Amino acid sequence: MKYEQELTYDALMERLIFLSKSYEILKLSYIGTTILSRPIPMVTIGDSDAKKSVLYVSTHHATENICTCALVDFIEEYANMYSQGRSVFGINLNVLYKMRKIHIIPMLNPDGVSYRLEGVGDSNPMKERVEKANNGSDFWYWSSNARGVDLNHNYNAYFYEYKELEKERGICEGRGKYSGETPESEPETSAVCKFIRYNIDTLCGVLTLHSQGEEIYYKSNGMTSPKSELIAKALSSMTDYKLSEATDTASYGGLTDWFIKEFNKPSFTLECGRGENPLDIKCSAGIYARVRKALFNFPILF
Ligand SMILES: [Zn+2]
Repeated sequence: MKYEQELTYDALMERLIFLSKSYEILKLSYIGTTILSRPIPMVTIGDSDAKKSVLYVSTHHATENICTCALVDFIEEYANMYSQGRSVFGINLNVLYKMRKIHIIPMLNPDGVSYRLEGVGDSNPMKERVEKANNGSDFWYWSSNARGVDLNHNYNAYFYEYKELEKERGICEGRGKYSGETPESEPETSAVCKFIRYNIDTLCGVLTLHSQGEEIYYKSNGMTSPKSELIAKALSSMTDYKLSEATDTASYGGLTDWFIKEFNKPSFTLECGRGENPLDIKCSAGIYARVRKALFNFPILF
């Protein structure tokens, strides 16, 4: 759909609750709560007996919340087409539903998104601390979670190597790039890791949406799992995003890095859209048009 306005956490929840009430196949659950006690929603589509599953995650970074819209659009299109008994890209959704479970976390960092869109709020006990870390009260460029940790540097992959780099560069809590005290120190990343560990037997692959660059990362420090290259090429041809390798700070502590390193299974970062973050929310329909084929096909690439 066409988003004319930014999607706040409350608007997202309203939408997800409405959709899950409208379509029986959408199962809404919560993987945990954020630092500011917001429940982190997850929508699952797929039969409980499905032997294989995949995970989609968006908005680790608050400035990249445009990707939340793409995942909501996907949830809605899947449910709508399924209810009409229709196929998408030649995929029979009835069969897809029976064979594959798709777990979708559309907004992992709602606290960061609320800082950006609604401000910190006077009742927030961390107000003074985060305004200092942000150099002011305008949080439009805030990417981190509620206490200034960059969630996509908080996973246990090359974490302590990154700590050295942080020291060298004087990176500390703030808008972005700070990895936190220890791996999984943040409730948001900890919830994702717990979910993944619990479901690892059926979980075949992870797709993480970020903006921007129109690129796909599928390696972590040169490493990748055996099947990844073929899948990456398929995703690249479906999205027309080019394959890339993460360099410098981007190759430490991310979900893609951790999933590859820990489980030796395929994991991909899609850098959606082009421009400077945060991208104009009106570009979200264009982003969804570009990634929807990949979102429908990813589960059957395993
Ligand atoms: Zn990002």
